[in-house]
Amino acid sequence: MSKKVLDYFLELVQIDSESLCEGAVIAYLQGELERLGLETYIDNAAESTGGESGNLIGWLAGDPDKEPLFLCAHVDTVIPGKGVVPVIDGNLIRSAGNTILGADDKSGIAMILAVIAEYVESGAAHAPLEIVFTVCEEIGLLGAKALDMEKLKSKRGFALDGNKLGEVVRVSPSLAGWKAKLIGKGAHAGIEPEKGINSIRAAAAAVLALPDGRIDDLTTMNTGKINGGRATNIVCEETEIAGEIRSHNEMKFEALSQRVRHIFEQTAKEYDCGLEFELKLNFQSLQIDEDDELVKISEAAFRQAGVEQELAMSGGGSDANVFFGSGLQAIVVGTGMQKIHSTKEYILLDDLQRGGEWLKNVVELWSGK
Ligand SMILES: [Zn+2]
Repeated sequence: MSKKVLDYFLELVQIDSESLCEGAVIAYLQGELERLGLETYIDNAAESTGGESGNLIGWLAGDPDKEPLFLCAHVDTVIPGKGVVPVIDGNLIRSAGNTILGADDKSGIAMILAVIAEYVESGAAHAPLEIVFTVCEEIGLLGAKALDMEKLKSKRGFALDGNKLGEVVRVSPSLAGWKAKLIGKGAHAGIEPEKGINSIRAAAAAVLALPDGRIDDLTTMNTGKINGGRATNIVCEETEIAGEIRSHNEMKFEALSQRVRHIFEQTAKEYDCGLEFELKLNFQSLQIDEDDELVKISEAAFRQAGVEQELAMSGGGSDANVFFGSGLQAIVVGTGMQKIHSTKEYILLDDLQRGGEWLKNVVELWSGK
């Protein structure tokens, strides 16, 4: 008899795995995948993340004529995630109240393990499956960013990591962070203010000139941090400002990035300040068509499990963004986790069950195509 989603879930949430401290859960998962007959390896992501473990990749051989499919979930949790005690409370599972539950993303992992166990034990034919368990997702998608995509054998897959069961994210924005340092000239504010150049004034002018908030349907911008000055009797020499840009549209993203840079350059000039400006792409947007095969298969699989699929637009990023940026395609599927990143986190027993059914249907539909 194969181990069920719930059993896996309860076991997993009791293994501590806050970001960077995923050694124990990766060891458990590697043992379990190998017990089920998968080939596995742990990559060297830990070298760049500084964490306990790299990402775990597993390969379950299947019909070699079929296109392989990857299934992905992240193994790390947010804090407070140590010593989770799961409590079954009617139709839901929550923590004892002093920690998160870790349904984000152990519900996804449990569904993947249960479905693999079921296929392995039933001997039913299926396409090859590649399992990608990433580390350090919660602290900036660091595991996925360090993953060697060239080594993966599949090009398309599903990332199980979203809130509502049946909610599918096929588009999410690019995100860039920017940082500007305006460099004026320090001077005594009372004795020789005319020798100074006040960078706070330049920064203020730049902030007011910058676009802010919701720029259009697809684009947002935020100035989130400002820092400068040492004392009220000194003309402020250096002021640093930082913010972010998000857009679902690459052209708008580019245009806004250019505009921000331009505004800082102009303002620095106008106020006779030096400028250090840096804009860094954090992750690329995810863009999967509405009628893509992944979306259609997922929809049919949900319908068979009695759930109506809903397409949603995300304002944030996930491992799927990183995959997409490297030429891999994945949609992000909600597993039913609720109130995540809080000690009130929970998941319904029914959702765990139906999520497992959905995934089983997905593998069947993918293998039959
Ligand atoms: Zn997550």
